[in-house]
Amino acid sequence: MGTDIDLTGDGVDIGDGEQPARAVRRDEAVRAAVEQGLLGPGHPIVGLLDVTGIRESAAELRAAFDAVTAPGTPVLHAFAVKATPLVPVLRLLREAGIGAEVASPGELALARAAGLRPEMTVLDSPAKTPAELREALALGIAVNADNPQELDRIDALMLPHGPKGVGGTPMATSRSPIGIRVNPQVGGGSIGATSTATATSKFGVALRDEGAREWIVRAYADRPWLTRLHAHTGSQGIPLSLMAQGAAETYALAEEINRSLGRRQIDTVDIGGGLPVNFGSDATAPTYAQYARLLSEAVPGLFDGRYGLVTEFGRSLLAKHGTVVARVEYAKSAGRRAIAVTHAGVQVATRTVYVPGSWPLRIAAYDAKGRPKEGPEVVQDIAGPACFSGDLLAEGRALPLLEQGDYAAALDTGAYYFAHHYAYNSLARPGIYGFAPSDGRGDGGGGGVAFATVRTPQTLDEIVAESGGAHASGLTTL
Ligand SMILES: *Cc1c(COP(=O)(O)O)cnc(C)c1O
Repeated sequence: MGTDIDLTGDGVDIGDGEQPARAVRRDEAVRAAVEQGLLGPGHPIVGLLDVTGIRESAAELRAAFDAVTAPGTPVLHAFAVKATPLVPVLRLLREAGIGAEVASPGELALARAAGLRPEMTVLDSPAKTPAELREALALGIAVNADNPQELDRIDALMLPHGPKGVGGTPMATSRSPIGIRVNPQVGGGSIGATSTATATSKFGVALRDEGAREWIVRAYADRPWLTRLHAHTGSQGIPLSLMAQGAAETYALAEEINRSLGRRQIDTVDIGGGLPVNFGSDATAPTYAQYARLLSEAVPGLFDGRYGLVTEFGRSLLAKHGTVVARVEYAKSAGRRAIAVTHAGVQVATRTVYVPGSWPLRIAAYDAKGRPKEGPEVVQDIAGPACFSGDLLAEGRALPLLEQGDYAAALDTGAYYFAHHYAYNSLARPGIYGFAPSDGRGDGGGGGVAFATVRTPQTLDEIVAESGGAHASGLTTL
């Protein structure tokens, strides 16, 4: 598939040439979705998740850190739930040995529904309420305090004779490992909205601000139960070198705190997530192995067994395993521009539609039977169904000409896309289905693929109910 999108992370060589296995699996799944009726005139949009690929990424993540950590080092990989907040995905990852990083009561509820144990769960978020903190401490979930005011609230909950815990019993202590999130202020990347370590980022304790380091050292000295240190330096668009610098600064601070206390109070460093994803081809780049190696070279002390590690990857675990496929309802032309009007737009690809320069997506063309579309490339727009002219999945993209009844697929949408529905025009949330070979191998067509429901399509009744349907006359009676 021809594409000239340049969004390859940190200038890592992504190589190309052979058709990667994941592209073969995706093509078979699209064809099978059409043949098995998941996709068609009555179901013009679906999200597909490649279960094989998700398992592979989870295994690659674990192997990458196993390869660079001293034997016996505790390592928890906590998937950032916000990337793909779907219970079956969290369960699949749990089976693959991956925990959950949650940042809201909703995300915690999803993790619990997926069966994640408290030891596999980490609560971050810049706006935790006292009730959320109390619940997390009662459950024994790891908590990273964002700021001094939050630490005050945790103090009150940890006090032996302080406020009551869940059930009215005083909580002398909690099993929760507790840390402080710092912002190493190492700078931003190419996308402002996902840069969390700028001088003025809203996250964590700004480490380079006047008095901040001294305050942090004192905070640990006063609280023997503060045993972790956390930083998440940013997401898509952050160069790997900057991520490594963020980890190095965090490690240096942990060493400074432990040295000044004369004890190894900080026993675990949480380095966050943020590995960028290559949206320009089917290659995984950079890889977890490359990043883990870079980190272990840049910050060897973090991997020598004196610290446990927590990671919080989101996008890099799921992005490349999701595809949103939408039927071309109409093919038209305007001002000599070919336009395919599809059912995938701002409701499933919100960032791409609103900020196309930062979040371009590859589009693959399939025919009405779900087979990869052949033919000369034509510059065309792939439009969504929403009622504003900017609702374009891709503008001026060279692809085999999409015709009525064909399918357009937005690739690499397994994280922060179709699972993040945006209710513009009251467009329904599409169904999401996981796929895997049904017999251990594909047959090149659509027959060898099995699907499992991840999320059923939203119904019109549900849309009405979520839109105040039960209160239809609520305003007229005021
Ligand atoms: C969003 C987020 C992550 C995950 O970032 P990715 O870029 O998806 O890997 C991890 N930790 C925290 C605190 C986050 O806010």
